[in-house]
Amino acid sequence: LDPVPSDIDISRAQTPKLITEVANEMNIAHKDFENYGHYKGKVSLDVYEELKDKRENGNYVLVAGITPTPLGEGKSTTTMGLVQALGAHLKIPSIANVRQPSMGPTFGVKGGAAGGGYAQVIPMDEFNLHLTGDIHSISIANNLLAAAIDTRMFHESTQKDETFYKRLVPKKKGVRKFTPSMLKRLQKLGINKTDPDSLTPEESKKFAKLNINPDSITIKRVVDVNDRFLREITVGQSSTEKGFTRQTGFDITVASEIMAILALSRDLKDLRERVGKMVIGSNFDGEPITTEDVGCAGAITALLKDTIKPNLMQTLEGTPVFVHAGPFANISIGASSVIADKVALKIVGKPKNTAIAENFEKGFVVTEAGFDFTMGGERFYNIKCRSSGLKPNVVVLVATTRALKLHGGAPDVKPGQTLPEAYVTENVELVRNGASSNLRKQIENAISYGAPVVVAINKFATDSDKEIECIKEEAIKAGAFDAVESDHWAKGGAGAIDLAKSVVRATKEAPVDDKTPPNFLYSLEGSLEDRLRTIATKMYGAKDIELSELAKKQIEDYERQGFGKLPVCIAKTQYSLSHDPTLKGVPTDFIFPIREVRISAGAGYLYALAAKIMTIPGLSTNAGFMNVEVNDEGEIEGLF
Ligand code: ADP
Repeated sequence: LDPVPSDIDISRAQTPKLITEVANEMNIAHKDFENYGHYKGKVSLDVYEELKDKRENGNYVLVAGITPTPLGEGKSTTTMGLVQALGAHLKIPSIANVRQPSMGPTFGVKGGAAGGGYAQVIPMDEFNLHLTGDIHSISIANNLLAAAIDTRMFHESTQKDETFYKRLVPKKKGVRKFTPSMLKRLQKLGINKTDPDSLTPEESKKFAKLNINPDSITIKRVVDVNDRFLREITVGQSSTEKGFTRQTGFDITVASEIMAILALSRDLKDLRERVGKMVIGSNFDGEPITTEDVGCAGAITALLKDTIKPNLMQTLEGTPVFVHAGPFANISIGASSVIADKVALKIVGKPKNTAIAENFEKGFVVTEAGFDFTMGGERFYNIKCRSSGLKPNVVVLVATTRALKLHGGAPDVKPGQTLPEAYVTENVELVRNGASSNLRKQIENAISYGAPVVVAINKFATDSDKEIECIKEEAIKAGAFDAVESDHWAKGGAGAIDLAKSVVRATKEAPVDDKTPPNFLYSLEGSLEDRLRTIATKMYGAKDIELSELAKKQIEDYERQGFGKLPVCIAKTQYSLSHDPTLKGVPTDFIFPIREVRISAGAGYLYALAAKIMTIPGLSTNAGFMNVEVNDEGEIEGLF
């Protein structure tokens, strides 16, 4: 339709298939599929177990972007458009794997990752609100841990050593028995005893008293609401807590380490181990204390045992979409789950039995990395692929004329404001400046990991043919396999057929050996400082890095504690290749500052902050929630 209606109107106008129908089309057995209402369901990990030895993986496509404007350049929209074209038009089995959006931003400023226009996940209200409750279970799991930590410190401090040990390991039917977590803690302490009554008073004290330094605790409570008033809080103010007050705060749920663990775990066992390894803070001797030490890892895993199953939904054109995990894109990887990718790649994979395989085309799994390639793509390879053992066959790099004009020298744009003239009239020179700088650097970065790069030019109504031609020319000059205009926002899958054909061609003409690891940017052998320097100089184009005194001390501590061999995620602005959002194009000669380094030991990475990162956003004056209503038919209105 012209003009294209609002995202929710488009979503509402399409009657979705029952999700069981989508599951049937994917050949998922009844026993492996659980309905959550009519249009959502969870897929059992048994699907992977059953197919893993019988099929080769399908093609793995990563959608990433150039340095965006604050309006977003359409990565999610392109992900949906591309699978709609592959699945509904070229009839190649294809699955989109995307993140579950947080409800914070849904009621705050900007929509989630449903895509837009005629390239969306539907029903978009269900996608954006609650889904199947995964974010809820993560919140509860995290908050159980937070409660366990504060209560543990309270009990340890208010009880005598002997009494505390007896209460911690109570007798049941006359027998005292350690829990599995307690046995792990004993092992860590080198106490090789399994009978709780055989511990010496010295050993029982060492085992029971965690001596957590309250100032070192990194676990905050979480909630999926943009509630800025929870950024800093004092807990324990009731007289029942006997003066054990403590300054802490809330994060938004998707910023929690448990969310990152969900995204990076390979299976339930791996998830259990990672949860146990989460460092919650340290004791007064500076030694790390983990979730296992607190005895909470088993219960957290229990809360996540269904959460770990990918959620199935559909695109506007009825093709399958997995929606699973949604870690923050700044302090975490900003990508959907490893598990969903593994399951999906088998579902669209090719039988290993050559007799059956003959007439079988491998299908596609298209997934997305948040922020620009240099951040999201870099982490996708160096953190997510390192964890999953998977490797993309093609990278689709989304570019728009508006972002290229911004990098080419046009004035800044802001959400909610009218676009300056340069953005709505033809200006090939600005486009060329942006394409020969920012787009070129992003292409070169993406190519360095070993997959062919197809540039998707996400078409806006005001783009001119000359501008599009210019982007194509510059993209090819920079080494892209192809550059294709794509009009999925206005036309759905039909508008992305050329893009889909080009992606298929890339897998055939520039095949990637997915049996070997990608060209990782760095190895885990060198020092942490070197790893940070490599990312900043090679990906961002910095001259060097500068570590604050705090960061130096933290790096020393982590290396001493044995966490020095982890990959690292750098949290910085996505609006520039550098740390300074005002520097557009390809900034050079800048020194990249690292203010602080933190750890997500369970998720399996360190993260370095180049800027002050807000881990629970606020609501604006005219926030999204103000537009939301439920009409007389019980339908939700006003969500985007
Ligand atoms: P990203 O994933 O890169 O942040 P999105 O796909 O969420 O970007 O798109 C950002 C916003 O821009 C969405 O509201 C989407 O509907 C809109 N949008 C995307 N592509 C187009 C287009 N070609 N024309 C008009 N609006 C678009």
